[in-house]
Amino acid sequence: MAKAKNPAFAKATAGKQDNDIMPKLTALCKQRGFIFPSSEIYGGMNSFYDYGPLGVELKNNVKRAWWQAMVYSRPDVVGLDSAILMHPKIWEASGHVQNFTDPLVDCKKCKKRFRADNILEAKGIKPDLGTMKNPPKELQECPECGGELTEVRMFNLMFKTFMGPVEEQANIVYLRPETAQGIYVNFLNVKDSLRLKLPFGIAQIGKAFRNEITPGNFTFRTREFEQMEMQYFVNPKDADKIFEEWKEKRMNWYLSLGMKKENLRFREHEKTELAHYAKKAADIQYLTPFGWQEMEGIHHRSDWDLSRHMEYSGQDLRYADLSTGEKFTPYIIETSAGADRAALMFLLDAYQEIEGGRSTTTESIKESETVLNFDKRLAPVKIAVFPLSKKPELQKPCQEVLDFLRGERLVQYDETGSIGKRYRRQDEIGTPYCVTVDFETLEDKAVTVRDRDSMKQERIKISELKNYFAEKFV
Ligand code: ATP
Repeated sequence: MAKAKNPAFAKATAGKQDNDIMPKLTALCKQRGFIFPSSEIYGGMNSFYDYGPLGVELKNNVKRAWWQAMVYSRPDVVGLDSAILMHPKIWEASGHVQNFTDPLVDCKKCKKRFRADNILEAKGIKPDLGTMKNPPKELQECPECGGELTEVRMFNLMFKTFMGPVEEQANIVYLRPETAQGIYVNFLNVKDSLRLKLPFGIAQIGKAFRNEITPGNFTFRTREFEQMEMQYFVNPKDADKIFEEWKEKRMNWYLSLGMKKENLRFREHEKTELAHYAKKAADIQYLTPFGWQEMEGIHHRSDWDLSRHMEYSGQDLRYADLSTGEKFTPYIIETSAGADRAALMFLLDAYQEIEGGRSTTTESIKESETVLNFDKRLAPVKIAVFPLSKKPELQKPCQEVLDFLRGERLVQYDETGSIGKRYRRQDEIGTPYCVTVDFETLEDKAVTVRDRDSMKQERIKISELKNYFAEKFV
């Protein structure tokens, strides 16, 4: 796969190959408690990950920021948390049983498995159903070892399980491959219980499962992940305009959380590549070390979803506009983002490696430093508290500061190593502020607050710390 240059990294890691950023970030995530390989003591499970103490904070902060922007800041969007296992007919109506497939080929020699469309795309051929049915010669040879490839088989990505004790066809249920369907089937419940009028949206954050053929690139593509989806129900005549508005709003959300503009772009889908439900679609892409990749999809789904659920459930899901007397099936504009993918992109965007270091303490000179310059809202640890030394007289004021600051946000205590080393440990996990309690504190009841990005230090009275940070973390 072609490796694109990421300008953010190019600057921070001048002179270095940017293709070693993924292994470095993966190692940092494990060492510092962000993301661990799942089931590791049993040898791990390919492409499943567990979020450690800092990772769960980061992902929760991403989800909180999304919920704040999508639900709390809007008068027209409400929340939902629907079940993961739902009536199997839902997945027939949605088209997933029939269409949610990827084309799969295996190498007869090296036994590696590939997505046929990926092989063709890498060779500049546009994959479509025709090329899958009549594979060109480019799809006969293994891209890795040159061995012979099997025929293309269509593979459904939904995980199946059985409800009740008998494992038979009639008891099959699916782990949802997207959260969206839980929203569509609750359209009437939500509309009627909250007496909502069009246009309005329903937002949901939750797990989704896809039996991906080629998971990889750390948490970018996994088989279990979380989605943050919002379905906006509109009068068909307004759909095109509202689609464009949501595209801008969603792009601005990433920018508002500090993502670098040069690492973001839209990719509009061409008519021939639209999914079965979509009238229009645009991806928000992020420039990763492994190329431009989809981070979120914005879809104009027309009346596909509600029409299909009307057909399969026999319920009338049309909307009656009492002011105009119209009755119609609402169109849907969807914004569909991945919480894990966004968290990974925020990690990549924040990752900086500074050759020679930026600290002024002599011991850290010449060493390379890693800094995660997250937006403060996303940083897992918000404040670190250090005593200048382990001397007993500093313990009491340090405890006083900790008691003062704990409760509202994650605060870490660290007393090991020099102050310079402790600063660097906090920079590496993106902590915006470090508070040092020193011997002067015993006299002036004040502490030194150091800012991660400017590295400036300020002397602040302990009694003013709460207000000081309340202003910093608005
Ligand atoms: P892709 O083309 O990468 O497979 P998709 O177009 O199938 O993605 P959607 O169905 O539109 O993705 O899902 C919406 C969002 O959910 C994606 O933009 C992505 O952020 C997230 N997502 C989808 N599949 C995965 C996965 N396997 N692992 C992690 N996140 C995912």
